[in-house]
Amino acid sequence: MPELPEVETIRCDLLPRVCGRTITAVRITPDAVPLVDGASPVEFGSRLEGRRIEGLSRRGKYLILHLSGGLHLVVHLRMTGALLHRDARAPADRYLRAVLSLDDGTELRFADLRKLGRLRLASDPEEVVGRLGPEPLDARFTAARLHQAIGRRRAPIKAVLLDQRALAGLGNIYADEVLFAARIHPQRRADTLSEAENRRLHRSIRRVLRDALDNRGASFRDYVDGGGREGRHQFYVKVFRRTGQPCYVCGAEIERIKVGGRSTHFCPRCQPQEVANGPT
Ligand SMILES: [Zn+2]
Repeated sequence: MPELPEVETIRCDLLPRVCGRTITAVRITPDAVPLVDGASPVEFGSRLEGRRIEGLSRRGKYLILHLSGGLHLVVHLRMTGALLHRDARAPADRYLRAVLSLDDGTELRFADLRKLGRLRLASDPEEVVGRLGPEPLDARFTAARLHQAIGRRRAPIKAVLLDQRALAGLGNIYADEVLFAARIHPQRRADTLSEAENRRLHRSIRRVLRDALDNRGASFRDYVDGGGREGRHQFYVKVFRRTGQPCYVCGAEIERIKVGGRSTHFCPRCQPQEVANGPT
């Protein structure tokens, strides 16, 4: 599933290409009706046609197209969604569900193998994205802000990091990578982290996400950027899907457990279960 680095990569790819363009036509495939839940495909298209794309922002894992007349198109890629910018004459992409024709002969295409993604229209995007925690790459996201967001939670830290209402943008890949970088066991209760561990976690969240962004995201399965290309960060992960392979730091075997129902990868030596009082 695309997480913050993947969605942000798509945003950076698309912004200069679609900003300022006007939507001239909208096509939704008949099997993609659930994609635009809350609107009929015809209604959806007629509300979009003629509008100018004025901006493209991201909140957590959501992309938000800002359109003229105060309308927003909120895109959630979920498991297998992709948002692609193509020349209208380019061959059709696989699993194409929706196409927005633009006034310069290009198209914004939404492809989705599993049809779990969502396209929603709203005058207030907050109505769609709901209550989300702070943006971890925002300059205002300090260690104190992290502590405020998670420091009273009694759930395992891995589950808390996945909770979008606590912190926006992390999914299964980066939650595992962040906890490894911070040397924190994924089952530690969030409210038991020391001040030093909270600082380490804060630093790790920002560093891991920035590194992944530098590598244009991770393509373990379906993720592609706004031009249809794969990311590279899957080659640089330290624990995610490395079960049984040696830890790059200590050589111990990476283990896999379930935390909150999700597959979780960690190094039993670098991330001991007892509270670590190592260097900060
Ligand atoms: Zn290790």
